Formats: sequence, C-alpha cells, structure tokens
Amino acid sequence: MSVTSAPMASTYLQCIEETCGRRQDTQVDVHACTSCGGLLDVKYDFDPINPAQLRDTWRQRRLSDDPIDRSGVWRFREIVPFADPGSRIITLSEGFTPLVEAPRAGSWAGPVQLTVKHQGANLTGSFKDVGMTACITRAVCRGARWVACASTGNTSSSMAAYASRAGLKALLFVPLNQISAPKLAQALDFGAFVVEVGNNFDAAFRLLVEIAPELGLYLVNSINPFRIEGQKTIVPEMLEQRGWRSPDYIVVPGGNLGNSSAIGKGLQELKDLGVIEKIPKLVIVQAAGASPFYETLRAGAKDLCAVENPHTEASAIRIGHPANWKKARRALLWAGGFCESVTDDEIFEAKAALAKDGVACEPASAAGLAGVRKLAQAGKIEKGADVVCVLTGHQLKDTEYIMRHRSGEKAGGQRMQVEADLNSLRTQLKRVLGGS
Ligand SMILES: *Cc1c(COP(=O)(O)O)cnc(C)c1O
Ligand SMILES: [Zn+2]
Repeated sequence: MSVTSAPMASTYLQCIEETCGRRQDTQVDVHACTSCGGLLDVKYDFDPINPAQLRDTWRQRRLSDDPIDRSGVWRFREIVPFADPGSRIITLSEGFTPLVEAPRAGSWAGPVQLTVKHQGANLTGSFKDVGMTACITRAVCRGARWVACASTGNTSSSMAAYASRAGLKALLFVPLNQISAPKLAQALDFGAFVVEVGNNFDAAFRLLVEIAPELGLYLVNSINPFRIEGQKTIVPEMLEQRGWRSPDYIVVPGGNLGNSSAIGKGLQELKDLGVIEKIPKLVIVQAAGASPFYETLRAGAKDLCAVENPHTEASAIRIGHPANWKKARRALLWAGGFCESVTDDEIFEAKAALAKDGVACEPASAAGLAGVRKLAQAGKIEKGADVVCVLTGHQLKDTEYIMRHRSGEKAGGQRMQVEADLNSLRTQLKRVLGGS
C-alpha cells in the first residue's frame, strides 16, 4: 500500500556533531557524516501544525481499516514524513502494543506507580519491528536488493520478516553461539542467510560495516537513522494511551542505544511541535557486565569507555561499543534523567517481580525495572513516581534463560518429577500445597 496524503515536510539528513552539522545528500545511502564520520539524524522542515488537530487525526485513524492506519508507526505519518507520496510502505501492523499496569512490580521497585509498554507484542516479538517498518520502507524506496544487519538476535528476526514482506534478500551477521535459539529460528524461518562470525556483537558489527559498501548491502542496524524514525513513534503511541499525560519517567534498557535515542528524539519533536508540554525524564539501564555508557557518564569522559568483552545473561544488551551513544547522551540532555547499571541477579529479580503481575518479558527488558528499584533506593526516583517501563522483547525470546533459572534448587522446587503412583503424588503435592 502507499501513502496517499502528501508529506507536510521536506526531509533531510544532518550530522549530529555540533562542530559539524553538515547536511548530507538524501539520495546516497550513507549512515555516517561524509565529512566527520558523525551519526546522522533524519530531520524535517515541518509546516506549522495545530497540535490539537494532529492528536485528533491520529485518534480518528484508530477507527480506520486502512492497513497504513492499522500500523502503530504510519498512523503517526505526519512525524515520519520521509516516504515520498506513492511509496510502497512495508508494514505488518506493527505497534499498537499494550500499556499494562503492574502494581506488584511497582511496589517491589519503589513503591512507584508502574505501567509497562509491552513491545514484545509486536509481530516478531520485539520493538525492532517499529524501527524495521521504517527502515525497510526506506530500503525499498532506495531500490535495495539485499539488506543486512549484525544482531544480538531481535534485529535479525525483525529484518528477516520485513525483508521477506518486501521481497528483499536478508543477510545477517551474528556472533558465534551467542544468540538465543528462538531468535535465530525466527530469522531462519523467514529465509534469511545467517553468517556466524566473531565472538561478540561488536566484532560482527565492525566486520559488516566494513564489508557492506563493497557488496552493495543496505545496512539496517540502528546507525541507519531511518530505524530511529520508526522507533520514536513508541512515544506518541504511549502518550496517547495515557490521554497525553506525560509520566515522570520513561525507562528503557540500553544496548546499542538506538531505542533510547529514538525515544529522546520522539519526545523532543513532540515538544517542539506543541503536541506535549512536559518531557518526562529518561532512564537508560545497562547490564553491569556491558555498561560502557554508564561508565562513560560516570567518568564524565569525552570519549566512550568501551567494554572489550561484554558479558551478561541479557544477551540483547550484551554490547561493548554502543554505536549510538552520542545520540543517547543527547537524549539525556534533552529529557533529563539517568543512566544506571544493574547486575544479572537484579535483572532476574525484576523479571520475577513482573511475573507476579502476570507480565513477562525477555531478560534485557527487565533490566529497566531493576534500574528503577536501584534508583528509588538511592532516592533518585521519588516514591510514588509515575513510571513507564518499556518492555523491549517477548518472554519466549529466551526460553533457555527461563529453564536455567526456574528449574532446580534456586527456583524453590517449582519443577518436580514424581513416580506415577497415587501415594508418591499425594506426598509430593501435600508438600507443595502445604507451603502456600
Ligand atoms: C535491541 C534490544 C535492546 C537494546 O536496544 P538498543 O536500541 O540496542 O539499546 C534491548 N532489549 C531487547 C529485547 C532488544 O531486542
Ligand atoms: Zn559531521
């Protein structure tokens, strides 16, 4: 399907470095500034708008059956107006994810008033879908034939699905034996070609960035600024679900730092357009064994304090050289807020706390809530604060993690094998039922 309404803005690409700010040719597929190597922003000269009318238009589209309007990204097309009129929009009805109250987890973490925005409800089970619809649409506009990414898993599942939808070929680089079986299975299921290379994400990513131009691969990692454009619509979707009342905090886990950058950009643009008045504070949470951004901010360093051998069970955020760290730093400047780091044990506790509300997610997603608890205990997040945690991925993305943590002694005997006779059953079950 195609966009019928004309874009209300002209699009350009601009280097984010303050000392440079050079505009780039939008007819070339570069993901770094051609003069200084800096990250690029997609920017628009927005025509003046009436914010109330815009909010109304967005709401009206919820009643529409047009596939474009059933996308939680393209429903907000006035703020992602980069596709030329008549472009093919590659959508799988991404977005429209639920906002769910999590009172038990909220009192565990603070107490805070907690809701979760569950991006695991996207088609391939992570927020990567809301970025991928934008990026693959752009790839099609640019006439790409092969798309490629390096991935800790979810980008590849998502790229494979959207590439398939668009009729493009998908090539993915993953670190050897480091991505969860369900994520790899998804990519294979959509017919992607999988190259296992390097011992961690950073190594696979570096190799891909080197080789992509000479092979004519269209790169869809989050250094591609069009990914960020799709992901920023998490903000209007969440705020609309809250009647446009900003929370005190929006919390996300940080790996390559694309999502935190996108949320920061979404907030800033909605503020500039007058759609929201108050920008919530942004909280970015990293895993202790993979917390280069946290360490950089703590040291007040000018350059990234990269981590050479990142380690954490939360594989989606096991990244030592986050490509978007400067955009994430800018997002924290715009929104205010913090970066925090949490241990794998704290991540497990947070995941278990959410499970008590009937809400589950993959380990990386729970890092956000673990960070909230730590910041609340330190007095940096006030008691009773209105907090939205973005849960980035689905529970079933890492089943091995669950089996490791929920079997055996540590889990308090949740799993048992019982001989097939009534007496054994009775004895065992009395123990279980008596303990409740
Ligand atoms: C990709 C991913 C992250 C990290 O997001 P970044 O944009 O790389 O910071 C966190 N959680 C899940 C489940 C992911 O798939
Ligand atoms: Zn530059």
